[in-house]
Amino acid sequence: MFQIFKDYSREYPFLVIKRFLLAFQALVFPCQCLKCRAYIDIDRSISLSDCFCNQCLPWEPLLFKSPFCPRCGHLFEGTFALENGENHLCQACLTNSSSINQVRAAFQYQGIIREAIPLFKYQSKLCLARVFENNLFDAFEGFFADSSIDRILPIPLHKKKMKQRGFNQSFLLIRNFKKKYRSIYGQKPSWQIDTATLTRIKFTSPQTGFDIKQRKNNLKGAFRIAKKTKIAGQNLLLVDDVYTTGATCDEAARVLLKAGANRVDVLVLARA
Ligand SMILES: [Zn+2]
Ligand SMILES: [Zn+2]
Repeated sequence: MFQIFKDYSREYPFLVIKRFLLAFQALVFPCQCLKCRAYIDIDRSISLSDCFCNQCLPWEPLLFKSPFCPRCGHLFEGTFALENGENHLCQACLTNSSSINQVRAAFQYQGIIREAIPLFKYQSKLCLARVFENNLFDAFEGFFADSSIDRILPIPLHKKKMKQRGFNQSFLLIRNFKKKYRSIYGQKPSWQIDTATLTRIKFTSPQTGFDIKQRKNNLKGAFRIAKKTKIAGQNLLLVDDVYTTGATCDEAARVLLKAGANRVDVLVLARA
């Protein structure tokens, strides 16, 4: 009883100050919808409703869910979806090999997600990072909790692109993963975030409009592995914002396997 009172009295002044500051912030800097600039009331639920108005976000974004290809994460729909919704290999994975063990995502690359990711990536709407990171952590927990992952590696940017953009969007998506894990489980995770092993040494032109073969050629020699890496025999998880043809992740996975990694999985914010 006394413990509860003690905790409450300690928290209380802090909460009052926090609420006051939030109210002040809302008054001076009212939040605007990232798409139409309409003023919005935010409930700080760390969801997309904190970033978009009701008109621009009429329904929740589509989650990445079955039926999908367990290898490349291709989403089946319409006549290609099995009636019972079971996951099954897609035609491409039945005929081609890949360096990636499995691809999973938080969302389908559709609707508001398709509009929000470029706002985050190219227009530096970094308020989206916190929301996206939450969604990605849920997907990580849902799909990889039992996968004995040793390291999580964001797909790196070339230093020239990093200078232009100012941030690596893939890193922002996992920046607080450790903190989140500790707050849920009260202990350190067994995996680590690794931004040193994989570097990008080739500045590649935008891949939009390229077919899969052109994308693969464009990415040849794009990545390098740090000399003193300890990834031999380890299970790695690559993180990127969007997975379209998978050429970038596949090339990164290829060099990681060549450097001795045991397995490379991929987690992305959205699967196209
Ligand atoms: Zn709007
Ligand atoms: Zn597939």
